[in-house]
Amino acid sequence: MPKKRPVRSAAIFRGSLPRNRNKRMLLELYNEDRQLFGSLSIKKDSISLGLGDSEVYSYDCEGRLLTAWLSNQTFVRTLDNRVIKKWRDPLHGKAWKLIQELEAEEAKRVLDQARIRIDGVYEQLQRGKIRLTCNGETEGDSARRAGEWPAKITQWDYARLEGQGERFRAIYTPVTILPPDQYLAVVLQATEGCHWNRCTFCHFYRHTRFRIKSHKEFSDHVRAVKDFFGEGIRLRRSIFLGDANALVIPQNRLLKIFERVNQEFRILSSRRNRVVSDNPVFTGIYSFIDAFTGDRKSVADFRELKARNLRRVYIGAETGCDRLLKFLNKPATAGQVRDLVATVKQADLSVGVIILIGVGGEEYTESHVAETVALLNSLKLGRGDILYFSPMVESPVSEYARRSADAGIRPLADQEKETQLRAIRSGLQFTANDKPKIALYDIREFVY
Ligand code: SF4
Repeated sequence: MPKKRPVRSAAIFRGSLPRNRNKRMLLELYNEDRQLFGSLSIKKDSISLGLGDSEVYSYDCEGRLLTAWLSNQTFVRTLDNRVIKKWRDPLHGKAWKLIQELEAEEAKRVLDQARIRIDGVYEQLQRGKIRLTCNGETEGDSARRAGEWPAKITQWDYARLEGQGERFRAIYTPVTILPPDQYLAVVLQATEGCHWNRCTFCHFYRHTRFRIKSHKEFSDHVRAVKDFFGEGIRLRRSIFLGDANALVIPQNRLLKIFERVNQEFRILSSRRNRVVSDNPVFTGIYSFIDAFTGDRKSVADFRELKARNLRRVYIGAETGCDRLLKFLNKPATAGQVRDLVATVKQADLSVGVIILIGVGGEEYTESHVAETVALLNSLKLGRGDILYFSPMVESPVSEYARRSADAGIRPLADQEKETQLRAIRSGLQFTANDKPKIALYDIREFVY
């Protein structure tokens, strides 16, 4: 008999559908011989189906597949219906995460396979070959309502999921990157692309022409986004205003955009204000900002945005070394980053600061470490702020690679990047009770 899957959460909900995101209703699947062979876990924001010891499928509240975990490999279905495979490399002492986007044919095979499994469960449920029980009861209201989920999920065949991908591409220009704590955001594109788009190392918006949407266009976009997510929006935690720097929009227009967002989404006025509700609630509005345009906003401007539920802005500082910023063709200085962070913090907003690890290769490593440490220690980062260290991912066809080769700059190996990261971290001075969260930011892991 297959082993019972361990229950990790102590907060198993017993009764009607869970109102709190973290609670769940757990149902067990028994076959005709009364052997346990799976479970169905229903949470406020998602559903998961475990079969045996090596298969777990998760779905949003519309019944669309989110992930399939099959024999230690995770397959993530993106909103535009691509499939990304993630797995651990057993050859390394440390578990390295490997990531690969599947070819269309392989992606279809994975999605079809997942559908066949849920079809099988549904069919057996219909024929009474397997039973769903909640607290040992098969006929209870919870078991009956849970039994409706497999039917809902089976409606999503490959063609219908592909249709969702097309719909996503009609609503959005490619969502190419988010800060890691925003991967579960609802992205709203108030702008498209990056207004600068010339940093040599950055390819995120290379093929998107920068533009600011009109208010009408933005309102239509918001409605289309809400329709697209449907009940699946329950899985989303926050609102991210895209793209690269939506806060570049002139303040008067930006305020109208924020007001529109607040009309359409219920946003908690404080992070501590946790409401249990049937309606989805969001933790706040978040956005990227650049130091070379951010200084156009005053403390008063940021306060107006905070009053409209802006919570944190993310700044790609990259390095504290001005000489290196110039080499990267990023038109900002460490001083501008310092001024922007001070302005944002005076408005009582949080910041996320992103530093590249390994950028500038061997040539810049000394100045990058010393001047980045100096910059970070001057920013007065504290609780609520996030400091991201992002290992440099060098594309061989980038302008950055070409300039580095011309200048004879040797890129750092992975181990040297780790040494650089340790050197920067060891120079940081934060007080024990008031320090930012520090995390790695591997852009290859981004999936939306
Ligand atoms: S790093 Fe930021 S400012 Fe530079 S091109 Fe990329 S998105 Fe634009």
